[in-house]
Amino acid sequence: MSIAQNLLDIKASLPENVTLVAVSKTKPVTDLMEAYHAGQRIFGENKIQEMTEKWQQMPKDIEWHMIGHVQSNKVKYMVPYVKLIHGVDSLKLLKEINRQAVRWRKNINCLLQIHIAEEETKFGLDETELDELLNSEELKEMQNIKIVGLMGMATFTDNVQQIEKEFKYLKSLFDKYQQPTTNNRQLTTLSMGMSGDYQLAIDCGSNMVRIGSSIFGTR
Ligand SMILES: *Cc1c(COP(=O)(O)O)cnc(C)c1O
Repeated sequence: MSIAQNLLDIKASLPENVTLVAVSKTKPVTDLMEAYHAGQRIFGENKIQEMTEKWQQMPKDIEWHMIGHVQSNKVKYMVPYVKLIHGVDSLKLLKEINRQAVRWRKNINCLLQIHIAEEETKFGLDETELDELLNSEELKEMQNIKIVGLMGMATFTDNVQQIEKEFKYLKSLFDKYQQPTTNNRQLTTLSMGMSGDYQLAIDCGSNMVRIGSSIFGTR
């Protein structure tokens, strides 16, 4: 099956309120362009250097999402063009994103990554840290960033009940922090679900799915 066909099939299966991020990491520009010509405009990458190279070569109406872990010292390279950063998991990182956004006179949308998996290795905030971050005074001062939602990755397992429990937990946090809404905090996006689990994620309340291998093939 072609990339275009994979993409169209997946899009046709998504409810209208669910946004598709085509995860194109490690794939060549020719593959991304095939998806582009089939109508895809949102691409997700997990390495800044790779995203920058693709951004330079590709049409400028693409929305680039950073889905990987971000190091503070690399933020400056992507702020000029990144639309949404999915993996924000500290106030320190948020500060740096805001600092660079001010420099570039940009507004950057961010999702806070929540640790929902059992694995120790996955990044993200726990509930207490999320609470602290969302209620911190410093956040209110950051005028050039906006926290627009939450992101999470479930445990890598065949145990559907386990994954469902984790997705439902993330949805409950998303619901819990709907209020209050401030200038730079308005949780509308819940980014959860990848190739293997996006249908379940949508059933659990996701409205943004990050799909790579089901579109572009295995990496
Ligand atoms: C690679 C990646 C995806 C996509 O994974 P697939 O299983 O290929 O769909 C989604 N989210 C993140 C954070 C990733 O790193």
